[in-house]
Amino acid sequence: MLRMPTFALVEPASLDAVLALLAEHGDQALLIAGGTDLLPNLKHELHAPRVVVSLARVPELAARREEADGTLVLGAMRTLHELATDTALAKRAPALAQAAGLVAGPQLRRMGTLGGNVMLDTRCQWINQTYFWRQALGFCLKKDGTRCHVVEGGANCVAAASNDSAPALMTLGARLLFAAPDGGRREVPIDELYSADGIWNKKVHGEVLVEVRLPRPPAGARGAYGKLRERGSIDFPLLGLAVRVDVEGDHIAAADLCAVALQARPVRLRKAGAALIGTLLAGAELDDAVERAAQAAWQQCRPLANIPGDPEYRREMIPVLVRRTVRAALASTGPVHPL
Ligand SMILES: Cc1cc2nc3c(=O)[nH]c(=O)nc-3n(C[C@H](O)[C@H](O)[C@H](O)COP(=O)(O)OP(=O)(O)OC[C@H]3O[C@@H](n4cnc5c(N)ncnc54)[C@H](O)[C@@H]3O)c2cc1C
Ligand code: SF4
Repeated sequence: MLRMPTFALVEPASLDAVLALLAEHGDQALLIAGGTDLLPNLKHELHAPRVVVSLARVPELAARREEADGTLVLGAMRTLHELATDTALAKRAPALAQAAGLVAGPQLRRMGTLGGNVMLDTRCQWINQTYFWRQALGFCLKKDGTRCHVVEGGANCVAAASNDSAPALMTLGARLLFAAPDGGRREVPIDELYSADGIWNKKVHGEVLVEVRLPRPPAGARGAYGKLRERGSIDFPLLGLAVRVDVEGDHIAAADLCAVALQARPVRLRKAGAALIGTLLAGAELDDAVERAAQAAWQQCRPLANIPGDPEYRREMIPVLVRRTVRAALASTGPVHPL
């Protein structure tokens, strides 16, 4: 049986109180939102905090409002269930609502939050294991060891970004508001949050994600989310793909495709997006553009043996997901989940 390590749980009732606790305890403190990822990681002894600071009672993190310029603000503690069942969000940002609805299973979506999903630690089949298992292997770069078991001789951790909301938020141009213990606030474009190093979240450790800000999309914006997973529920993505297409008249004026579960950060598929721009919405021209997008994505994406699932199979499924998810975005029929 896996046991929870000993720590003090504190449940402050305001953002200021959370920040004061982070200032007091520094590296010894960890934030917990829904706990759906953190608790298994604590049992696996991936962290050993002295204090766990709960965000559950902080009203400032529960926001959902539209500002005068059309920006939609979603508080970090909005649950995935709330996002998945938000009909206005499904119209305005379909890829995000669909991605939220495909995370894990119903119970986890009721506990799991948007903030926890954005800040989700990267995953790897060599690290998301018990201490005993990792010790037997000699640990790895990400924690307690000196080598990577995925890339022999690699200097960086290449554990996979596995958060379904992240690529959707990237296609939506999301900006993230962080609060720091010293009272500072900063707004970060989501593209700048993640890095190629699987231990990326050390650079934001100690800051609280307060809200996610989504600019008003153009009138013709459409989107969809596609997800490959081992079973029809519960599982982390073997591959996730967010698509946004902006339609003007009879053609695609802009397109953005972002994939997740490949490397340590979600990946923007620029050439695939470019292949779709300017094409008509139906007929042979669209067929040709979708195929070029699918092939461009296949060229760019090379899955690693960082998560379960044969990397070659995952690569061959990339063009399949691109074809289906682009068409679902255009027809507003997402989400796409091939299994
Ligand atoms: C069986 C199973 C299946 C899963 N499947 C999926 C899946 O398919 N797709 C997927 O994306 N996820 C999946 N998850 C992971 C998890 O359920 C979700 O990612 C969820 O959104 C995490 O949110 P949480 O509120 O529970 O985060 P927590 O577990 O509370 O926190 C996660 C991390 O984020 C940090 N954090 C949380 N909130 C904030 C904040 N406001 N500011 C700064 N840091 C913060 C925490 O310190 C921690 O490091 C799965 C988990 C399980 C157990
Ligand atoms: S990618 Fe390498 S360093 Fe990172 S968790 Fe996996 S085995 Fe460890």
